[in-house]
Amino acid sequence: MFFSMGKDIDFDEYRRLAEISDSNPKLLESIYNCEFLGFIDGDDKRVGCLLHPSIHQGVNLREYSFYGPELCARHFCPSYAHLTAVEQSAVFMALDDWYLYGQVITDIDFVKEFFRLVQDRMGDSLRAERLQDRRVRSALRAFFELKESWKFCSPHNRLGKYYFSHSEYQIARIEYEKRWKIKPSKFDKILVSLSSDFENQKEIWEAEGLIEEKIEKFIETYCSSS
Ligand code: SF4
Repeated sequence: MFFSMGKDIDFDEYRRLAEISDSNPKLLESIYNCEFLGFIDGDDKRVGCLLHPSIHQGVNLREYSFYGPELCARHFCPSYAHLTAVEQSAVFMALDDWYLYGQVITDIDFVKEFFRLVQDRMGDSLRAERLQDRRVRSALRAFFELKESWKFCSPHNRLGKYYFSHSEYQIARIEYEKRWKIKPSKFDKILVSLSSDFENQKEIWEAEGLIEEKIEKFIETYCSSS
């Protein structure tokens, strides 16, 4: 829609149309969702800032944004600081789907916990160059894809470990002790990041089995790669 509005864009009109065409309900009303985040290519594959100077012959149009050009130019998401360079590279190399990439790169616990578990088991640090092997990337992607197809995903207002109610967000917990008198799962952080909601202990075991399978497959593939 943005690019179809011609060279002299009426930004107020664009905002009005963007608001009407957005059919997804917001998870949290108090967080501003920028209407200028969109596809910057013709194939709807690359997501970025529609006001960025690189796509407007050097002209920075972000003065029209809610946050203003200074904040837009300087802001980095928490993953930029909290994920290591290897963790960031691994996500980047394993995923070429913008949607899943967005879900995974912003979930610090999900990425870090995977790294911690596989590195502990292997007794070695993961090396980004091993991801040049297509099979290793594929095994890593299979783990990340749990985000898209998680059997135990809560039907309630969740995004990863966060849940939303009214105008607030909180961090979700799985009440192992209270509900089933058991200790927390060894995959607790991953289960919470996957927005899990369980009815009984059997479901937790099944969920652990699904995660275990992906981790084992990754380690086996990684160790057999050159
Ligand atoms: S950089 Fe600013 S204007 Fe661009 S998408 Fe992000 S918040 Fe919106």
